Amino acid sequence: MMNAPTNLTPDQYGFCFDHSYSKLPEVLFSRANPKRFNHPSFVIFNVSLAKTLGLNANVIESSNWACFSGLEIPVMAYPIAQAYAGHQFGGFNNLGDGRAVLLGEHILPDATRVDIQLKGAGQTPYSRSGDGLAGLGPMLREYLISEAMHALGVPTTRSLAVMLTGEVVYRAQPQSGAVLTRVAASHIRVGTFQYAAAINQVDVLKALADYTINRHYPAIKDHPNPYVALLDAVINAQASLITNWMRLGFIHGVMNTDNMSIAGETIDYGPCAFVNAYSPNTVFSSIDQNGRYAFGNQPKMGEWNLTRFAESLLPLLAKDREEAIRIATDRLNLYQTQYRDCWLNAMRNKLGIFDAAAINAEPSDLNLVEDLLMLMYKHQADFTNTFRQLNNPGQLDEGLVSDVGFQHWQTRWKERLAKQKQTMAEVVELMNAHNPQVIPRNHLVEEVLESAAQGNMTPFHDFLEVLQNPYNLPMNDKYLSGAGSGFDETYQTFCGT
Ligand code: AMP
Ligand code: MG
Repeated sequence: MMNAPTNLTPDQYGFCFDHSYSKLPEVLFSRANPKRFNHPSFVIFNVSLAKTLGLNANVIESSNWACFSGLEIPVMAYPIAQAYAGHQFGGFNNLGDGRAVLLGEHILPDATRVDIQLKGAGQTPYSRSGDGLAGLGPMLREYLISEAMHALGVPTTRSLAVMLTGEVVYRAQPQSGAVLTRVAASHIRVGTFQYAAAINQVDVLKALADYTINRHYPAIKDHPNPYVALLDAVINAQASLITNWMRLGFIHGVMNTDNMSIAGETIDYGPCAFVNAYSPNTVFSSIDQNGRYAFGNQPKMGEWNLTRFAESLLPLLAKDREEAIRIATDRLNLYQTQYRDCWLNAMRNKLGIFDAAAINAEPSDLNLVEDLLMLMYKHQADFTNTFRQLNNPGQLDEGLVSDVGFQHWQTRWKERLAKQKQTMAEVVELMNAHNPQVIPRNHLVEEVLESAAQGNMTPFHDFLEVLQNPYNLPMNDKYLSGAGSGFDETYQTFCGT
């Protein structure tokens, strides 16, 4: 972890801002103040996250949350927009924070450093033709799903507040403008490295890489080749992150390289959604016509993005370009095995198999997992419910249970469980800790967002509360329903709204 400056005193709100990123070469960012919306109003504030951050929730509240709408810029803030590039659906573009402003890096009482960013805060030098604004629905969507992901145990950016701006934003339908306050380990993306590489200034690339190592992977600072170690660390973090998505049925929806965080957090909740009826081909995003970011493609797209990251690092990996390419290729070749191991261990946990790391762990576990997924696919069984109810066949999909193939699979699974020393009670405990009862089901997300748009936040708060304990049985079983509602067949999610 990067050293925290020793001379910081928190402001009245508890913000303790430092600005290490803006000490990097100036081409990497631009000054950009958040827009001063004249009539902002309160929507939601994450009091528990505020406490974790060491903020003074009461003082923030008595200021009418003015620092979350741009109405007031905290005294120690130094707002910037970050430059980055990115491959969007395969095509390279120069981008940058077009509608987000970084207030600064807040230093927690335990010295952890996090970015505090306002999203939807008006135009910046990188807005191109965009208005720099965001709608209430998409900002609440990011709030709900990122907080749910956190509770599910997935590395993610967090959501601290949403404020209405008092202005209308014009999209397919006019909607209320809103600002989301986002908390992230950092906003350094694969696209940030692509930008640094594209401007062809090796000193900038090196400064960014050194900064990233220092901030996110300090253990590799003394590695003989820290840039190779950085590539390894990012490959590792992504293999683990994408495993988390795949174990939960999460579809990011827009895995462009500008939406891949170097710190390994899930970032930029745009058209994301969850798989209900299992199919690796599931796509909800309206603009993903070819299924590039379909559920089952995510591990492969992760590798594609990591290859772009490795390409950006080439000038630092070795003096000789051929040698650098050889090193990068060797490291990238490790991704598939790494991902496969990581994913298989996660799936073992879902099946109640303990001895994941044991040297003699059953090689046939892979078949066991893949065969179950095939059967789920055949019957369009609900991803979440099937895993959660595996030892409760009365609750499973009827078609699945009556399939002799599945009955045979159950026998193999039970034989596998019998080979380990743990009791059935321990198996169930492991399974329940890795198979959620509740996920942000698409129809429920839309339902609570619809109420919020009408000014009624109660359903949103109720759902958010249930999502805080996703591995427990909720009181209301409407949160449990899965496939078969017909909702998903026509469901579409949207980008950049
Ligand atoms: P996203 O799809 O949200 O990851 O955004 C991709 C790029 O478009 C980023 O550079 C964003 O900053 C930019 N962008 C998205 N929406 C807007 C907007 N309303 N105004 C300006 N820039 C935007
Ligand atoms: Mg983005």
